[in-house]
Amino acid sequence: MTTDLPHERIPVAEARARITAAIRPLAAETVGLAELAGRIAAAPVIAPHDLPTHANSAMDGFVVDAATPGPWRIAAQILAGDDPAALAPGTAAGIATGGVIPDGADAVLPVEVCSEQDGHVATTAAVESGAYVRPVGADTRRGDVVLTAGALLTPLAVAAIAGLGLTEATCVRRPRVAILSTGDELVPPGTPLRRGQIHESNSVLVAATLAQHGCEITTICSVADTAEATRDAFAKAIADADIVVSSGGVSVGPRDHVKPALISLGVTELFWRIATQPGQPVWCGSAPDGTLVVGLPGNPLSCLVGLHLLLVPAVRALTGRTPEPITTPAVLVAPIAQLPARLRAIPMVLHDGRLEQLGAGASHQLSRAGRANALALIPIGTGELAAGTVIDAVPLG
Ligand code: AMP
Ligand code: MG
Repeated sequence: MTTDLPHERIPVAEARARITAAIRPLAAETVGLAELAGRIAAAPVIAPHDLPTHANSAMDGFVVDAATPGPWRIAAQILAGDDPAALAPGTAAGIATGGVIPDGADAVLPVEVCSEQDGHVATTAAVESGAYVRPVGADTRRGDVVLTAGALLTPLAVAAIAGLGLTEATCVRRPRVAILSTGDELVPPGTPLRRGQIHESNSVLVAATLAQHGCEITTICSVADTAEATRDAFAKAIADADIVVSSGGVSVGPRDHVKPALISLGVTELFWRIATQPGQPVWCGSAPDGTLVVGLPGNPLSCLVGLHLLLVPAVRALTGRTPEPITTPAVLVAPIAQLPARLRAIPMVLHDGRLEQLGAGASHQLSRAGRANALALIPIGTGELAAGTVIDAVPLG
């Protein structure tokens, strides 16, 4: 049942728990190397063979049999990519980094400790079996788990997959997200404003943030403040997306059509209002087809709070990861007041582990907030947090 009583607002952790309980993780699909970066592994990546496959040299130098005393006659040159013949007893081969250790040899002498004369190589250094040799399987063994299910496939992870000779991996399907902006006062950037209008900015905030978190943005559309337009836009969006995010129109004013529209579409309420400041008026529900619907408030910095504390976690849960937001501990540079019943979430500048505020009263002003790179989380409490207090902050992309 919906209610507007302030005491009904729920802690954000509880809101995240309700979202996580309501969603079904997305199916897996096979993805080629070129498209893998930024995806989430749906299955472990298993090494198909030992790596390296052949013992090879870690240095440019000479390869010898450590049991045979030098000087050694230089009988061959082994470059990276060569498939060398066995080394005859008492001989050496010049070898490049990555060159295969030939049969009959087991140690590399770095070129820096060698001297060459009359086609022979000598060294004053101790020659130990295995020196500067990268053994078979030193990196990974056939059957080893190289990346676990749920891993974010960073460019380095994708390189590791390529290095195993694999051309694809099993990934979680990208969440499909539809973004609706409600408000008759909104006009697209680039359009001159007449009195009363403002430029629409929430859709780019939501789209860019969720794209960074691996989502496919399927629709971005503006919705007029009428019951019919709101209902139609949500019906279309729900049919096509895993997550529908709207901004604005979620409060209790005469032009706020989001909640009634969603209820008329059979969307089941998960919660209404979260215990944050700003960002309190959020309506969240689950559509009959399982689509998660989140109605965020229109104020851009309220929208930001729900985006990072609810939607990014929802995306994480949909892709099989833990739904907690990713936070970093950071030190407050100036004191800040807590709120007794609401988590304050304030854009700040995070630099060298220190959180600086944007200036008195600036936290609700979008242009100034554009300089922020973290959302500082001021825990619920009755006092003032002193300068130097360590709190959590969500990095903003
Ligand atoms: P609402 O939640 O619809 O009452 O909107 C709250 C405030 O946020 C109003 O001042 C709106 O003009 C503003 N707002 C709503 N949607 C957007 C948007 N997409 N971009 C920028 N500002 C918005
Ligand atoms: Mg509005």
